[in-house]
Amino acid sequence: MLDWDNLEAQCLACSRCSLCEHRHNVVFGVGSRSAEVMFIGEGPGEQEDLTGEPFVGRAGKLLDTMLDCIDLDRSRVYIANMVKCRPPHNRDPLQLEQEACAEWLQNQIELIQPKIIVCLGRISAMAFIKPDFKITREHGKWFDIGGRRCMALYHPAALLRDPNRRPDTFLDLKALQAEIQTICTRTYL
Ligand code: SF4
Repeated sequence: MLDWDNLEAQCLACSRCSLCEHRHNVVFGVGSRSAEVMFIGEGPGEQEDLTGEPFVGRAGKLLDTMLDCIDLDRSRVYIANMVKCRPPHNRDPLQLEQEACAEWLQNQIELIQPKIIVCLGRISAMAFIKPDFKITREHGKWFDIGGRRCMALYHPAALLRDPNRRPDTFLDLKALQAEIQTICTRTYL
């Protein structure tokens, strides 16, 4: 396992898959490196690629609003993506790309040791919770994976496309807040 400095330096220079060819920035991750709660999306979009920050732009603003709903902000959690470079035309990351990039994220998880992992969207939930995860049926449900509590929320971009899903997400966020209050000791200090 690499320490943070080596991990970030090596990740920023990574060319393990072809997504490195057209990137402007590697989107490493943001937030508290001692967070108890980690949010994991699938990959950077255009604004993320241009700024090097995960979840900026309209979907990012909505994620900030979602966090605010449960009295959280980016400084209290850690936010990262499964792949650190933007897939062209915002397509889903290919299996090969996910596998090539997995070691960076795994190293981040090992350094942070979060108590809770929140998958943002179907692709992340299929990788972290179970391969046949159905986001419409299983969002907001808790799973115990590798000693951690894991749940999935609709991806903020999906909530922008379909606002009818927002009431469900509000309930999921409240369930997340209750779980944080039950098992986390520092997040709301
Ligand atoms: S997506 Fe991941 S594995 Fe591929 S080049 Fe970027 S950092 Fe490396």
